[in-house]
Amino acid sequence: MPFIITDPCIETKDTACVDVCPVDCIHPRKDEAEFAVATMLYIHPEECIDCGACVPACPVAAIYESIDATPSHQKDLIEANAVYRLGDEALMAQAEAIVQAHVAAQPALMAIPAAERQAAHATH
Ligand code: SF4
Ligand code: SF4
Repeated sequence: MPFIITDPCIETKDTACVDVCPVDCIHPRKDEAEFAVATMLYIHPEECIDCGACVPACPVAAIYESIDATPSHQKDLIEANAVYRLGDEALMAQAEAIVQAHVAAQPALMAIPAAERQAAHATH
């Protein structure tokens, strides 16, 4: 069961998780061209080894340990993590479209500062 990045990462993108991931399965990294245009980062579901190191590293609590642990209003972003592939423009566009639809569908939640959003999601 892979770990999943969710919406507090949108526009936060500080890559603290990238620095601690032992298998380099979180992309795009700051040194990758796609970083400038990606709205958030994604975890490759087949490369993630479920070590959990990224969770405490994230300053905005954007990462969940499983599909079950992901709050209901974040579950659409499981698919965004699943489809994104570094270097594949079409798949990046697909992932970003899911993210944009997520943002458009959740105006009240997305208006909450990223660092406080996990708590808000927990009550929805
Ligand atoms: S759980 Fe471990 S392997 Fe998976 S993304 Fe996080 S740091 Fe990387
Ligand atoms: S540490 Fe959190 S906010 Fe920063 S890039 Fe990783 S998931 Fe996004």
